[in-house]
Amino acid sequence: MSLADNFSRVGEELAEAARAAGRDPKSVTLLAVSKTLPAERVREAIAVGQTLFGENYAQELRDKAREVPGARWHFIGPLQRNKVKYVVGVAELIHSVDSLALLDEIAGRADKLGVVQRCLVQVNIGGEAQKSGCAIAEVPALVQAFAARSSVRCEGLMCIPPEGVAPRPFFENLAQLAATEKLGTLSMGMSADFAEAIAAGATIVRVGSALFGARNPVTR
Ligand SMILES: *Cc1c(COP(=O)(O)O)cnc(C)c1O
Repeated sequence: MSLADNFSRVGEELAEAARAAGRDPKSVTLLAVSKTLPAERVREAIAVGQTLFGENYAQELRDKAREVPGARWHFIGPLQRNKVKYVVGVAELIHSVDSLALLDEIAGRADKLGVVQRCLVQVNIGGEAQKSGCAIAEVPALVQAFAARSSVRCEGLMCIPPEGVAPRPFFENLAQLAATEKLGTLSMGMSADFAEAIAAGATIVRVGSALFGARNPVTR
């Protein structure tokens, strides 16, 4: 399958899932996850009409953003405070804010650059040990903390459900949390489960391997 075929197939599946849920396909944004792929692959995706890409690693985002002008970027990976400088102002949306300390670092950097950084709060929706994301119980306070900082804005929630179990209840749980917090953006669903995430209300699906093929394993 060519890259163009993959994008059209995923686009059709996305639209079909939206229509099946009684939603406008335009209400779901396809974020093409280009982590670990060379800049050349991103250029190829741009050539078939994709403009929005997701990256997991801060320096990789910084480098690719330089190498591929014309792409728009989201940051979706765990973010260490000392790497915030590579991401703020480069990523339109940071999906992975999960602590007050990280929020403060992002807000400080955004202040310095004179930008408003759009963010999502990542929730450890399965309550798993050693998984990124804040606890469900911490969500209200973390969302509230944005209000006191003018250089950051919380637009919604993101999650990665536990592996090996049906994801749907976790997606629904995240949607419920977002509704309680009156947040409109829901980043959930990957290659294996984006249709179910859309059924549960996802507004951004993060799709990598279904578009670009299997990634080579990386060690960092
Ligand atoms: C890698 C990654 C994805 C994409 O995963 P695929 O299964 O390849 O679609 C989505 N979200 C996050 C946070 C990721 O790290």
